[in-house]
Amino acid sequence: MTAAAVALDDAALAAAADDLEAAPPEAILRWAAARFAPRLGFATGLGVEGCVLIDLIGRHRLPVDVFTLDTSVLFDETYALWERLEARYDLTIRAVRPALTLDAQAVAHGPALWQRDPDACCAIRKVAPLAAEAARLDAWVSAIRRDQTPDRADARVVERDPRFGIVKLNPLARWTSRDVWRHVLTHDVPYNPLHDQGYPSIGCAPCTGPVAEGEDPRAGRWRGQAKTECGLHARPAVAPVAIRPRGEGEAS
Ligand code: SF4
Repeated sequence: MTAAAVALDDAALAAAADDLEAAPPEAILRWAAARFAPRLGFATGLGVEGCVLIDLIGRHRLPVDVFTLDTSVLFDETYALWERLEARYDLTIRAVRPALTLDAQAVAHGPALWQRDPDACCAIRKVAPLAAEAARLDAWVSAIRRDQTPDRADARVVERDPRFGIVKLNPLARWTSRDVWRHVLTHDVPYNPLHDQGYPSIGCAPCTGPVAEGEDPRAGRWRGQAKTECGLHARPAVAPVAIRPRGEGEAS
């Protein structure tokens, strides 16, 4: 960790969260950039909230390492949006891929693991790659909103990530879906066309379907299963993922 990150103990983070609670998202991002860049990342799933943060990072030229967990089973529309966002904001959205290709995963765990054990699939294709990225960072940005799931209801705008141990910024924590779409329309932000086809929440193609009028916006994620989170934002019931010290097995 850098000196700036070490200096921010949990009491300091709580105080910062209080100070920034009513601040606009760009102010929270600027605060984070001033303290944590270049060890500040933004893990985006390229949902509409992520597009809003990319718009802010891109237009204000903030020094944030933007990356996507490319599970290799994203929608074609998502891959196309990825290219549109890079072109529109002249930035790179870095691909972070799992250790196992889809073929290697099928050999090791059987085909279509997402149908039989989606938690294991998410652990391989999302959580482990994010943990490896977190080991390189002092802070990461997420695009979650408090009103999305019960797990997210207590998110602070600045907090210690209980899973990875680094600082987590949630600049859109207090925003509503209406706030997000107002920003998109005001600033003509590119977004996934699937959002206009009944997909309010978009993840991997095998695990995402459309929702009916009046359904929970995340009802199309892992439909028919108890699972509601991929494991990136849930408060862990088990011990946090161990983060190796910088320089020890760190990705180059
Ligand atoms: S969302 Fe589905 S396909 Fe994607 S990593 Fe999780 S279980 Fe696998």
